[in-house]
Amino acid sequence: MKHQSGRHFLQIPGPTNVPDRVLRAIDRATVDHRGPGFQEMSKEVLAGLKHVFKTKSPVVIFPASGTGAWEAALVNTLSPGDKVLMFETGHFATLWLNMAKRLGLDPVFVPGDWRHGVDPAQVEAKLAEDNGDAIKAVMVVHNETSTGVVTRVPEVRKSMDRARHPALLMVDTISSLASIDYRHDEWGVDVTVAGSQKGLMLPPGLSFNAVSDKALAAVKKARLPRSYWNWEEMIAANKDGWFPYTPATNLLYGLRVALKMLLEEEGLDNVFKRHDRLAEAARCAVRAWGLEILCANPAEYSSSLTAVLMPQGHGEIAFRELVLERFNLSLGSGLTKLRDKVFRIGHLGDFNDLMLLGTLAGIEMGLALAAVPHRKGGVAAAMEYLASANSAANKKAGARLGVA
Ligand SMILES: *Cc1c(COP(=O)(O)O)cnc(C)c1O
Repeated sequence: MKHQSGRHFLQIPGPTNVPDRVLRAIDRATVDHRGPGFQEMSKEVLAGLKHVFKTKSPVVIFPASGTGAWEAALVNTLSPGDKVLMFETGHFATLWLNMAKRLGLDPVFVPGDWRHGVDPAQVEAKLAEDNGDAIKAVMVVHNETSTGVVTRVPEVRKSMDRARHPALLMVDTISSLASIDYRHDEWGVDVTVAGSQKGLMLPPGLSFNAVSDKALAAVKKARLPRSYWNWEEMIAANKDGWFPYTPATNLLYGLRVALKMLLEEEGLDNVFKRHDRLAEAARCAVRAWGLEILCANPAEYSSSLTAVLMPQGHGEIAFRELVLERFNLSLGSGLTKLRDKVFRIGHLGDFNDLMLLGTLAGIEMGLALAAVPHRKGGVAAAMEYLASANSAANKKAGARLGVA
C-alpha cells in the first residue's frame, strides 16, 4: 500500500475518531483486574456512565460490541415465544429483529420506508389492540444509523402510557448516546443499549445496558438462557468495583478519560449543541448541492450523521471509492435496502468545524470528479452557517462575561 501523508479522514458514523488522550490512556501496561487500584477506577467509570445515560439505575459494561448488549437486553428480560413489538426504521432495527427471531422470540414487525422514525401513533394503536398484554417489550432504535433518522423516544413512551400497556421499553442508543440528548430515567426507558465506538469516542469493544427497576424485576421471570450476559452477576460484582469475568481493562482506562472530557470538560449539553450545529452545517451543504437528505421529516433529523441520496443513475459505491482513493476520506455506505443508493456523512464523536469542512470539501470535489449532477457551493454554505452560529455563541458568551 502506498503511503498517504496526513491523517485519514474517518467520517463513517462509527467507529469514530478516538481522541489522542484516550488512545494514550489505553496504551499502558496490563493491570491486574483483581488488584488494588482497579476497583476504584471501575467504580469511578460506573458512576460516570450513569450521568451519560441520565439514570440512577445500574449501567453494566460488557466486553463486547453493541450487538452483545442487544442480546443482553433480550435474554435477561424475556422468555421463549414472547411477543415483542419492533419497527422497520432501517438496517439496524432489522438486525435487532433477526436477533429476536433467532433467540426464539415472536416479533411483530411494523413495516417502514427507511425515511421515518417510529410513529408514536402506531405504537399506541398496536398496543391498544393487544388486549391480553401478550407484547412483553417495545424495542426501538433511537438513532437509526443506516438512515440518519431519530425516533422521538419521549413520544413513544407517552403512547405506551396512553395505551396503559405494561410492556418494557428497550432503546438502542448505540449511535446517539453522548451525541444526541438522551434521558433513560426521565423518558421511562427500561433497557438502554449502547456501545463504545460512536459518541463515546472509544475504539470498539465495550457495550452497555442501563437497566430500570422494572427490567430488573423482569429478570426473575425471564426464561431465555443466559450466562455471559447475566445482569445479576454483573451488578452484584460491580457494587464493589469488580467484574464476574475479565473486563476489557485497557478500554476502561480510555473510558475514564472520555467520560472526563464529556462530563467535566465540555459538558454534555455543549456536546449535544456541537453535534446539532455540525449536523445543521452538513445539511446546509447537502441542500446547496441540490441533493436530497434521506430523512423525510426535519423533526427527526439526526445530529450524528446525515444520509444523502445519490441522484438517479449514480451509485454511491463508486463515488465513495473515488473519494477514498483520491482524498483519503472514508464515508459511510448504503446498507442493505439502501445499497448503492445513499452515502452517509458521520459527524459524531471527537469532531469539529474544520474537520466537517474538510469532509464536505472532499465530498464536493468527489461529486465533481465523479460527474454526479450537483451545484457548487455546499462547503461555502456550511462555512456561512458555522460562522454565523459561532458568532451567535460568542455574543452570548460575551454577554455573560459582561463584554460588548
Ligand atoms: C453500530 C450500531 C449497531 C451495531 O453495533 P456493533 O458495535 O457493530 O455490534 C447497532 N445499532 C446501531 C443503531 C448502531 O449504530
